[in-house]
Amino acid sequence: KNRSADDLRSPICCILGHVDTGKTKLLDCIRRTNVQEGEAGGITQQIGATYFPMDNIRERTKELKADAKLRVPGLLVIDTPGHESFTNLRARGSSLCDIAILVIDIMHGLEPQTIESLNLLKSRQTPFVVALNKVDRLYGWKPSPGAPIRAALKQQSKDVVSEFDMRLSQIMTELKEQGMNSELYYRNKELRKYISIIPTSAISGEGIPDLLMLLVQLTQKLMEDKLMYMSEVQCTVLEVKVVEGLGTTIDVVLVNGVLHEGDQIVVCGMQGPIVTTVRALLTPHPMKELRVKGTYLHHKELKAAQGIKITAQGLEHAIAGTQLYVVGPDDELEDIKEEAMQDMKSVMSRVDKSGEGVCVQASTLGSLEALLEFLKSPAVKIPVSGISIGPVHKKDVMRASVMLEKKKKEYATILAFDVKVTPEAKELAEELGVKIFMADIIYHLFDQFTAYMNNVKD
Ligand code: GDP
Ligand code: MG
Repeated sequence: KNRSADDLRSPICCILGHVDTGKTKLLDCIRRTNVQEGEAGGITQQIGATYFPMDNIRERTKELKADAKLRVPGLLVIDTPGHESFTNLRARGSSLCDIAILVIDIMHGLEPQTIESLNLLKSRQTPFVVALNKVDRLYGWKPSPGAPIRAALKQQSKDVVSEFDMRLSQIMTELKEQGMNSELYYRNKELRKYISIIPTSAISGEGIPDLLMLLVQLTQKLMEDKLMYMSEVQCTVLEVKVVEGLGTTIDVVLVNGVLHEGDQIVVCGMQGPIVTTVRALLTPHPMKELRVKGTYLHHKELKAAQGIKITAQGLEHAIAGTQLYVVGPDDELEDIKEEAMQDMKSVMSRVDKSGEGVCVQASTLGSLEALLEFLKSPAVKIPVSGISIGPVHKKDVMRASVMLEKKKKEYATILAFDVKVTPEAKELAEELGVKIFMADIIYHLFDQFTAYMNNVKD
């Protein structure tokens, strides 16, 4: 019902990896080359995403002479690279992100956030490819701008090729140590067992055609079912943002279905479900008009997959990383309100019932969930007594200070993951003796806290 193999939606792709591996640059490179080619392909800039229509991808991959038919309408690449967008694109623990690019710097190999990304991808069971980026930094590399990687490698001297081989095999060993088999994509005969590696340069563009081609081929091959267009709305809140003149807005990714102006929607909020009406569906102006800053195109309706900004009343306490629901004519509002709060409930259920443990705070429900998953794992086992989303305020410090009365000094601690701490909260924490650890890498929070624990115990 409402599904057909001829009506596939565009796959949604996220980019993850350690800082400075070239995630932003890679996205720029995919985008800019297209823009330079003029009007061709009609790439559209969306809220938090870029849409690459298939005509465009076909044009850019023509040198590869792909035999496989390209049947998806295009590719929606999520713009905010990193953990945040990936962990936010979720539905009840599994990922809405159909495929991911894990970027590794060929000169650095696996780094802490690479491993964290690998664990995220594993836990969400998201298929991914590795972009082995910065090949142009191999000593003596001769650029062949925008060329397929095999053609580019043919141009290189023996020394370059042998350094490439050496680094590649080192990185394959490191991946193996993380429990992952990998192979250069054009040697990979077992897509389900081996992770494909695509060497790229985000500066000179080698390997970019291969990357685009593989993303499309893999999604078509591995997940046709998941990509069949459905009329039921599937929509995730990526960010909650205050915009001048618009008030609090939510940036969403519409994965399936259609949204209309005037739809009644339900969103998960910090203080319970938010029931409201879509006032406006907005997207940025097309490329040419991008200079018209701060203005958006209004739409009566939008069909998946799209990145959309929604304005509506009462969105102040909406939580990024949760699902958005549309109330249909046959729906019971109460059922949908309950459904909308399920995400929050499943995360709340991870809080330690004994009431003894640290407080944790993160920027979105998705990143909070990732942090809780980590703290609960057998190798870590740090109990959690309280959770919150957003900046650390005085009230959060007050809550953590309860542990001091319980004679659990080491738990009078806030682990703040990728969030700010207000000056007032910092002051109060010092006054009361509450420790606040801040980091944007989960492992760093763990290291800081373990060091502190050992100190307190001595
Ligand atoms: P991100 O933190 O992963 O988003 O990394 P960026 O895209 O901001 O890139 C970090 C730095 O590496 C910047 O100075 C880029 O210019 C540089 N960079 C990114 N990709 C490449 C590449 O393929 N080759 C070279 N030589 N430099 C790159
Ligand atoms: Mg970046």
